[in-house]
Amino acid sequence: MPYRVTLIPGDGIGPELVEAARRVVDATGVPIEWEVQEAGEAVMARLGTPLPEEVLESIRRNGIALKGPITTPIGTGFRSVNVALRQALGLYANLRPARTIPGVRTRFEAVDLIIVRENMEDLYAGIEHEVIPDVACESIKVITRPATERIVRFAFEYARRNGRRKVTAVHKANIMKLSDGLFLRVAQEVAAAYPDIAFEDRIVDNMCMQLVQKPELYDVLVLPNLYGDIISDLASGLVGGLGVAPGANIGEKWAIFEPVHGSAPKYAGQNKANPTATILSAALMLRHLGEVAAAARVEAAVQSVIAEGRWVTCDLKPTPDDPTAAGTREMAEAIAERVGGNSRN
Ligand code: NAD
Repeated sequence: MPYRVTLIPGDGIGPELVEAARRVVDATGVPIEWEVQEAGEAVMARLGTPLPEEVLESIRRNGIALKGPITTPIGTGFRSVNVALRQALGLYANLRPARTIPGVRTRFEAVDLIIVRENMEDLYAGIEHEVIPDVACESIKVITRPATERIVRFAFEYARRNGRRKVTAVHKANIMKLSDGLFLRVAQEVAAAYPDIAFEDRIVDNMCMQLVQKPELYDVLVLPNLYGDIISDLASGLVGGLGVAPGANIGEKWAIFEPVHGSAPKYAGQNKANPTATILSAALMLRHLGEVAAAARVEAAVQSVIAEGRWVTCDLKPTPDDPTAAGTREMAEAIAERVGGNSRN
């Protein structure tokens, strides 16, 4: 029986990247029937909603989706489709690994971080109002015991399953004594049930400094939603930027795999964007399906193509205007060929 996976191309560079990832996954031989579902700007123009109900139904039916980034208008327009999807499907854990890939130029050599971001509450709960129109606004930060317990447990369970040694809870409990204070207290309580894994906490501003000075000291980080969003982009920067940073949104029943980056509209349709983050997100998806060997083959093929440095997009070349840069499609093709046991030269 093939797996059925919902495929959401998304906006901007999304369709090119999702096509690239699909090509690579198909090269593994894992039987997948892709069910393409449109969400985002184009569908908004056509149907008046950026997230038609059939997209949610498809994910609920298939259990799993691979998704390209979706543009979110700033200030006005529809609310984030990404946030809406996570909330509608209860995808409470946002998993963002940030690992050094040999051949990607960075300032650090051995970064291996797992960012576990709470995905449902905090300032993303969407409770905002104008106190005095155009003069004062309030956005409410929601932190609850059940959501904190669930995300911290997810981080420890991940650490245990994957042989990681330490979980660091990140907060600002010195200032937000109630909300972040609760997050920290609950994290400490949950940690007590995992004596085999070290636990510590860091204040978020100190965490930023520590990560850019000595990232090798950290392992699994667990954070409320907003700090998780910011720190995971910082962690992407440590390993070579958004073009190589994969992600997963995981709930009790359903999961969506997508790159950390956005729809980068300025590169849309130019066959220039780096497909690595989306391809590595697809590898996380294969692992989630239990197709561990296929996932490892995809990861090894990505590493091999990047280490060789020939069939890579311009952001991975020594200078962005390098005339030998490969396009999105060509890089994906080189990776797919290696997954399939061939190698182009
Ligand atoms: P972005 O990630 O789209 O782009 C920032 C910059 O990063 C780009 O200009 C580009 O230089 C680089 N970049 C990103 N992806 C790349 C890739 N694959 N290859 C090479 N370079 C890459 O961030 P933004 O400009 O802040 O956001 C654009 C839109 O995407 C916004 O509407 C935002 O809301 C949305 N967004 C969506 C998601 C999602 O769907 N999960 C996530 C983040 C942002």
